[in-house]
Amino acid sequence: MKKYKIALMKGDGIGPEITEATLKVLSALEEISSFKLDFIEIEGGDECLRRRGTALPEESIDIIRKTGVCLKGPVGESAADVIVKLRLLFDLYANLRPAKSYPGVPALRPDIDMLIVRENTEDLYKGYEFNIGDDAIALRVITKKGCQRIAEMAFKYAMSRRKKVTIVHKANVLRVTDGLFRNICLEVSKKFPEVKCEELYVDATAMHLIRRPQDFDVIVTTNLFGDILSDEAAQVCGSLGLAPGANIGDKYALFEPIHGSAPDIAGKKIANPISMILSAKMMLEYLGEKEAGSIIENAITKVLSEGKVLTRDLGGNATTDEITKEIIKKILK
Ligand code: ATP
Repeated sequence: MKKYKIALMKGDGIGPEITEATLKVLSALEEISSFKLDFIEIEGGDECLRRRGTALPEESIDIIRKTGVCLKGPVGESAADVIVKLRLLFDLYANLRPAKSYPGVPALRPDIDMLIVRENTEDLYKGYEFNIGDDAIALRVITKKGCQRIAEMAFKYAMSRRKKVTIVHKANVLRVTDGLFRNICLEVSKKFPEVKCEELYVDATAMHLIRRPQDFDVIVTTNLFGDILSDEAAQVCGSLGLAPGANIGDKYALFEPIHGSAPDIAGKKIANPISMILSAKMMLEYLGEKEAGSIIENAITKVLSEGKVLTRDLGGNATTDEITKEIIKKILK
């Protein structure tokens, strides 16, 4: 039997609730699969900062270094000190954010299926911000290597999808930084002649995500634009509560929902756990357990299309626990 060691950070706000739900789903899945997931809990986030004076203790970093894979719930105010830091530390340069409409979920259209490939280590997220007197300045860092590897990743994913990549930038204004990003992406596109390549300005993309979301397959873009567009794309598909994410590098990977810790609903037991369960599905695919990933997604699709047990963000009144049980029922059927 295959065994996988995985670091597990529960996070803040709704993090622990949706993590608990996800663990229940994974343990049901283990019953019908031939692998075992061995989770090692690590600390990190606001609560950890309050108790220990650091939002990301060294031993948490060491454990991720050993396991190579981490499943993580959302953290609150300390996100910059936790996830942004982990992305840089482990060079998790690609942030994969699928946005898909599911049957029974009120999305703008029923046929949306896109993957946002967001560069994850550069841009304004480098954190080079300074005060100059009363004013403030931030540096936007875009490197040739950074553009090359994210473009390669986007085109490779497009090859296993509908073979279309949209390069999203603002090179008409950010001529040097986004000019580089655009040019390198176009250069990489030449290696993938089967993939249709188009480019769009980020503002036009924000509009087209509402007007014709079904036309997008893979979007490749820089860090900040990717962050904003993926929240938009998630809502276009019905709810942030359905939106998973993967942070992938050459050696390490971390999986987490794209949303934040949702303090407004924390502790109420009404959070939608699907974002985190689908993040775990992406983790299983990364580990090579593709069939297990499909079982999870099929179970979720059934629950959503039946429309009987839905959380509040999806227009229902089920609790986190009730929808989790329903998903497990479908897995074990
Ligand atoms: P951040 O700045 O970290 O993104 P935020 O509070 O601005 O945090 P989110 O935490 O992503 O943003 O939440 C945005 C909205 O979406 C909130 O109203 C929240 O309740 C809702 N939401 C987010 N995740 C879920 C979920 N899993 N289930 C139900 N509602 C959710």
